[in-house]
Amino acid sequence: MHPCLTCGACCTQYRVAFHWMESDEVTEGGVPAALTQRLDAHRLCMRGTYGPPVRCVALDADIGVYSRCTIHPNRPSVCREVDASWEFGAASSQCDRARIAHGLPPLTPADWTWREAASNDDGEPDDSGNSPSSPPVTPIAA
Ligand code: SF4
Ligand code: SF4
Repeated sequence: MHPCLTCGACCTQYRVAFHWMESDEVTEGGVPAALTQRLDAHRLCMRGTYGPPVRCVALDADIGVYSRCTIHPNRPSVCREVDASWEFGAASSQCDRARIAHGLPPLTPADWTWREAASNDDGEPDDSGNSPSSPPVTPIAA
């Protein structure tokens, strides 16, 4: 199974900030405006991530057990840009730091061996090529 589906740690660690043009108020299929708040003149952030304690309002998770982004197809660009550690052959400091903060071990290449056996096209989100992009986020200093 894709490790993000049993994690969600990074959706509770960083401010999720992005340009206001990503809002669905101005871009069809964009981030639901009701789940955002104004950060500054040019940026919005996901509600729940402006400051500590951080937990994105769009997150449906029991961290380390179960995790889903409830706006996955419409999540902000920053959420699409950060890879889980070793998903594409390299460690991710944001992923590692978020997991460690929740007492979870950083991912290793061994956490991705399931992909070889998962190409069964059964429509489940852990299939190769059908796995969710990692939730999070580019941290932006408050
Ligand atoms: S990117 Fe890393 S920290 Fe974020 S949900 Fe996936 S495994 Fe967890
Ligand atoms: S992927 Fe982004 S929008 Fe979705 S729950 Fe995580 S931080 Fe929130």
